[in-house]
This record gives sequence, C-alpha cells and structure tokens, in this order.
Amino acid sequence: MNTLCVPETPASRRPYFYLGTHRARHLEQSPVPLFVPVQALLRYQRHGHQHMPKARVNYALDSGGYSHIAKYGEWTISPEEYGGAVYRFMEYVGYPPDFAAPQDFMCEPEIIRKTGLTVHLHQELTVDSVLYLRHEFPHAPWIPVLQGYRLDDYLLHVEMYRQAGINLTAEPLVGLGSVCRRQSTAEIGAIVTVLHAMGIRLHGFGVKKQGLARYGHLLASSDSLAWSYTARREKIRLDGCDHRLCNNCLRYALQWRADTLAVFDQPAPQTFQQGLALDFGTGSTSDRAEQRQPRLPMPKPHDRGILDQMTLTFTA
Ligand SMILES: [Zn+2]
Repeated sequence: MNTLCVPETPASRRPYFYLGTHRARHLEQSPVPLFVPVQALLRYQRHGHQHMPKARVNYALDSGGYSHIAKYGEWTISPEEYGGAVYRFMEYVGYPPDFAAPQDFMCEPEIIRKTGLTVHLHQELTVDSVLYLRHEFPHAPWIPVLQGYRLDDYLLHVEMYRQAGINLTAEPLVGLGSVCRRQSTAEIGAIVTVLHAMGIRLHGFGVKKQGLARYGHLLASSDSLAWSYTARREKIRLDGCDHRLCNNCLRYALQWRADTLAVFDQPAPQTFQQGLALDFGTGSTSDRAEQRQPRLPMPKPHDRGILDQMTLTFTA
C-alpha cells in the first residue's frame, strides 16, 4: 500500500473548521466557530469573571501546550488547576466548548529538547492527563490527543491508549498533535490516512490550506491561527483598519479563513447550530445549542484560590 498517495480533497468533504484566536473577545464577535487557547481566557479572569466574554458561536478549547512548554519546559499549571479552570470557563463563557484538549505533550524535536524527556514519555504523560481530567472533571468534553513524530510513534500511542482502557475508534473525536508545523507534508498525509483507515475520527491541530487540500477529507475537523502570524510577518493592515497590523484583527482573520476554505469551493461558513455532531454522553451538540444555561457543578471552593495563582502565573 502506498500511503503517500493521498487523493485530493473533494469539495463536498470539507472538515469542520475552527478559526484560531488569541482574543477571547472574538467569542462575542465572530460569525464562525473559534479555537481558543485556555491562556486567552485566563487573561480575562484577572478582571473578574463578570468580564468574561460570552460565546455566541461554537468553540473549542486548546491547551496552548506548544507555546507553554516551549517557554517553560514543562506544564507549570497543575492538572487540578487546569481542569478547574476549564470548568469555570464552561460556566462563565455561558456555553460548553465542542471539545477541550488535555494537557498534552507535543513531540516536535524542539519541544523534546526543551523538556529533556523522550517521545515515549511525552505520550505517557498525555495519556495520564486524559485519564486524570476525565476522572476528576467528567463534565468537560475532554478528547484524547495522539502525540508522536513518525507514523510508528502514533500507532504505538493508539496502543498505549488501548492499554489504558481508551479505544480511540470509539471516541467521538481524537486530536492529532505535533503536525502543525509540517501539516502540508506527505508524511502527515500518510499518518492521517492510516489513522483514518483504522476508524479514528481526527481533529488536525493547526491543519490549514495545504494540509486541507491534501487530506482534509479524512479529518472530522481542524483549526488554525496562522492568519495572525501571516499578518505579523507580512505586515498586513487592511484598508479601513486603524491598528498597526491586523495580527489580532477579526476582519482580516475572516478574510484569511475564506481564502483558506476556498480550496473546497464551499459556500457559507457553518454556524452555531451546525457544530460538530459530537456526543460525549452529556447531550448532543444540538441539545447544548438550545441550552444556554450552564449545567455544570459549581467550582470547588478551593479552585478559586488556585485560579488566582494561575492567573498570576500567566500574566507575570
Ligand atoms: Zn485589521
């Protein structure tokens, strides 16, 4: 089998696409689904939860793990702090995310060098995070994330999940990590092809135009924040914008998104009511769309103190 020969994505097979943003306020302004790192919401919390943005679109929560580990060499947020923060965001933002990433450990060579650990240990720690968060914070829609670098790594990680009691083929969605910076390569196309053939429903972290064109039809969903880097690198400022650059500009982000998804020649972005049909056992996405009121247990009293400490960590 030549797994490198992946047919181009048909127009009718576009995956659900989340526009990445560092600006949590975009949750109130965007007409399209968003992908928000936990850190972006933490920044708002220092002003008090009453200032938290309210979600008007589907969104998913990213761990922001690459930037965090690249900076600190480890997770400086404890699993309890992380899970407690996501619980509170689900309440304050007024709507649960489609899914939330665990505290995963990426396996790009620069991240492995930063932690001084092995790919295998990064994979073990990622499984541990999923198990912990699902056990301690069962009302959040945590997804397993596959980490690795070569195809064999990812296949081994599938087996590690199985041994931990998680059958990835039965999961509504599984994140595919450590692909963002090489998402347009034939190697990632091959990895996606094999995992898809195994029956795993994938979210491609950071998969954008070239990757979508190559293997987007094999993904359930993907996200990208590349527009912000593009605006900064290419010094883009749209006519009519009064900021210096459009690297935090929703107007530019939406233009970039339209251009990215034009590879599918698809009209009209999917909207709030048409989110990923994920069923985490706590109600379907359409159920959640009609139920704006949070139905989560209140945070444990000690979590608030932890959150204050965490906010300081992120804003120091
Ligand atoms: Zn702008």
